[in-house]
Amino acid sequence: MSKLGKEMLIGFVPVLLAFLVFMGVNVVPIVLAGVILFSLFYVTRMRDSMGAASSERKSKSRTPTYLTFDDIGGQDRAKNELKEALDFLIKHEEISKFGIRPLKGILLTGPPGTGKTLMAKAAAHYTNSVFVSASGSEFVEMYVGVGASRVRDLFKEARTRAAKEGKDSAIIFIDEIDVIGGKRDGGQHREYDQTLNQLLTEMDGIHTANTPRILMVAATNRKEMLDSALLRPGRFDRHIQVDLPDKKGRMHILQIHAKNKPVSEDASLERVASETFGFSGAQLESVMNEAAIYAMRDGETSIGQRHFSLAIDKVMMGEKTDRESTMEERKRVALHELGHAIAAENVKPGSVSMVSLSPRGQALGYVRHNPQQDQYLYTRTELEQQIMIALGGAVAEEMFYGGRSTGSRNDFDQALHLVRTMMDSGLTGLGIIDRQMVTKEELMKENAAILDELHGRTRELLERFRYVFEQSLDILIREEVLSGEQFRILLANAKEEKTSA
Ligand code: ATP
Repeated sequence: MSKLGKEMLIGFVPVLLAFLVFMGVNVVPIVLAGVILFSLFYVTRMRDSMGAASSERKSKSRTPTYLTFDDIGGQDRAKNELKEALDFLIKHEEISKFGIRPLKGILLTGPPGTGKTLMAKAAAHYTNSVFVSASGSEFVEMYVGVGASRVRDLFKEARTRAAKEGKDSAIIFIDEIDVIGGKRDGGQHREYDQTLNQLLTEMDGIHTANTPRILMVAATNRKEMLDSALLRPGRFDRHIQVDLPDKKGRMHILQIHAKNKPVSEDASLERVASETFGFSGAQLESVMNEAAIYAMRDGETSIGQRHFSLAIDKVMMGEKTDRESTMEERKRVALHELGHAIAAENVKPGSVSMVSLSPRGQALGYVRHNPQQDQYLYTRTELEQQIMIALGGAVAEEMFYGGRSTGSRNDFDQALHLVRTMMDSGLTGLGIIDRQMVTKEELMKENAAILDELHGRTRELLERFRYVFEQSLDILIREEVLSGEQFRILLANAKEEKTSA
């Protein structure tokens, strides 16, 4: 209603009422009816405007931050594969000319924190689609049927949002799909089965309507757990592996996260990339963030190499703890770490960067290694060397205390894992085996033979450096850290004395 109309109405109503009163008409029912009608009109308008505001808010909170493939470091192969698959969505006319079946689902698999969610968001940007996301765990409810109705809502939301935003495609991203897409056993997990069935039904119905074209992207780090119905052609039949980044990829990810941070000129991101073999994108982001926090705490204006080193240690092993330990414990930890360090320096000269006696995370001390070339293949000798480094701690404790402590638990886990790798790769006396073909006793015998032999070799090696243990122990107890350079001088002196003796 226009402003003029409103004003005329406001003026006309009292005049009419006055006239009716003058004519002797009872106006009370008319006034009451007017008030009720006006209130109803007012409440409806308020609700409409509040609804519009809240839906605007909702869609805003769901809109992903602007993200492109250039914001994702490394992962060149995965990005290219994904882009190729996305062309199905963009070039849909050509595709239908060739009678190609449209793509419905892409499955991204890989370890946590490698950027799968980022990929899905970038895919939405690349294809100018609406992005709707949910995590598998959001569908798990105590009440039967709720999960399935959430799946329906998700597809409905994608369609309405696409219509509202004028886009002709939508990407629905489901993280942790294994939670709902696990193998159906027809038994206990009935609720999950219903949710999964609903998902399959919705996927089958994706192309009954032409717009919006819907593409499902799902992520998991346990592909082998998924029900085969999800993976069959016509469902999630494009699988893209998103791996841990190699050195070049790590460098790229670090550069992306360094963009908004003042990195000192003498700090080398290349060195950080070398030192972070096996880190995921999320861990690298955390290294950059932690390094910035250390620099700020130090009152510096930029992030230096030292801050990066501290940040890597923190992300790898956890924050420094102020666990109080007795002198006896400290000595044992120092000798244990020196055992690892002496073994490491002998099998890989120049590899020790620092021995530290400060507690971090669960560890009471640690040896930091210099960056090595990324390596994906190992020979038997290399695996044996790694086992010797892992056993070095326990062997040192045996040498000086006559027995081991609980401090070697993780080392043994690591050694056993390496032995298993050797067995599975046909690098042991058992030859090329399938675990099912060999009895437990045979496996145990071979495991013990390998570990006993390497334990003996490690003991023999470390015995030759008793003197280095004693000297380094003093420094470590006094200063808490022993640099790689100091340590190598002590080792070289010991070797020289041996040869001259
Ligand atoms: P999860 O399997 O645990 O869900 P994910 O693979 O989906 O993990 P993301 O959520 O995409 O991992 O990544 C987490 C964070 O890590 C991102 O917000 C980003 O800061 C950083 N990150 C991970 N990978 C990359 C990458 N390749 N480039 C840049 N940043 C990355």
